[in-house]
Amino acid sequence: MSIAIVGGGLAAATAATELRERGYDGDVVIYAAEDHLPYERPPLSKDVLLGTKDIDSAIVHDEGWYTANRVRLERGVAVTAIDAAAHTLRVEPVGGGAESEHEYDRLLLATGATARHFDVADRVCDPVYLRTVEDNTRLRAALHPGAKVVIVGAGWIGLEVASAARQKDAEVTVYEVGDLPLVSVLGPEVARLFADLHRAHGVGLRLSTAVDEAALAAADVVVVGIGAIPSTRLAEEAGLDVDHGVLVDERLRTSDPDIYAVGDVANQQHPVLGRRIRVEHWDTAIEQAKVAAHNLLGDEEPYTHLPYFFTDQYDLGMEYFGSVGPEGYDRVDIEGDTDVANGGAFRAYWVHDGVVRAAMHANDWDASDAVRDSVGTER
Ligand SMILES: Cc1cc2nc3c(=O)[nH]c(=O)nc-3n(C[C@H](O)[C@H](O)[C@H](O)COP(=O)(O)OP(=O)(O)OC[C@H]3O[C@@H](n4cnc5c(N)ncnc54)[C@H](O)[C@@H]3O)c2cc1C
Repeated sequence: MSIAIVGGGLAAATAATELRERGYDGDVVIYAAEDHLPYERPPLSKDVLLGTKDIDSAIVHDEGWYTANRVRLERGVAVTAIDAAAHTLRVEPVGGGAESEHEYDRLLLATGATARHFDVADRVCDPVYLRTVEDNTRLRAALHPGAKVVIVGAGWIGLEVASAARQKDAEVTVYEVGDLPLVSVLGPEVARLFADLHRAHGVGLRLSTAVDEAALAAADVVVVGIGAIPSTRLAEEAGLDVDHGVLVDERLRTSDPDIYAVGDVANQQHPVLGRRIRVEHWDTAIEQAKVAAHNLLGDEEPYTHLPYFFTDQYDLGMEYFGSVGPEGYDRVDIEGDTDVANGGAFRAYWVHDGVVRAAMHANDWDASDAVRDSVGTER
């Protein structure tokens, strides 16, 4: 059997690893558009941006691993078409060159997502969209004492960049059209604490404010973090069902029985949450890739793992488990010291219909397991 993996990020590398760990002996080929060994992206807005770790620390496996495990890693090539009926795919070098056609028996789509563009910034300046090693290198060089950094969007990436930039003594202004940062994920009670944290570290937080052209033009560097778009074009053109991501069932299978999808690109019918969800988190890329690897080999394993997310900003480390559904929450219970700018540690529980739907801790690592286990319990 031959298994093709389209991607080359964390999900792709994890799936290949799991296939070998399960004892699968057939062909595995990873087609990766980036000309790098598969790497993890979270450090791009944290340690690697701060310069406390180098990019090699983010690499999933060194080159020798792929050789030793007979995983063919084709770097710098894009899969341009999949013929699902014929079980073939077309591959083209990213910089141009001869196209080739390859056969597969089973295929895993792990094409991830790309940064959403902001047309005003694209017109006025040359913004950084932090997604790749190259984006990180460019931004790192621009973060120096006194540099005027404008960040568009107070989401996770925007706030992590704000944190790194302030630690480099840059002058940071964050523009956010919402009335609080991260409010759609955390709700106002906890989002407010993140606003306080950034203000305490000297970030100019312009909430309910759309950035104007003058502010963009005056910046030394503009970073846009306004979300990501799943890379679904290939799946759509192959005739797979796509709707805000590649639609996959509980077992991560697409509308074609020989094609699975995982990670940022996959919109899964989640058996525990009872609804569709597409999760752009590091942990989901890993855990879905493992389950998909089993199913590529013929298992019928549902993916039941709940979303998990972490962030580091200044001295704050937090973990968030679960997911609040579209129905929202009735109350959020906060326990502990919420003065996170001064080392406070707290736990928060989002409750709907008497059940914890999501829970997090900030700076309370000993509580991590208990907070995770609280999700789904009555409260
Ligand atoms: C700066 C940054 C910070 C982050 N921080 C956190 C964090 O703190 N915590 C957290 O939980 N998550 C974080 N994330 C999210 C996390 O990194 C992603 O969820 C994860 O990378 C998803 O992995 P993936 O393999 O699905 O997709 P990706 O990492 O996007 O990899 C997909 C790869 O597929 C390639 N590709 C696409 N189309 C093709 C094609 N047709 N042919 C060949 N190759 C193709 C792409 O070039 C890309 O290299 C962060 C993301 C970013 C960008």
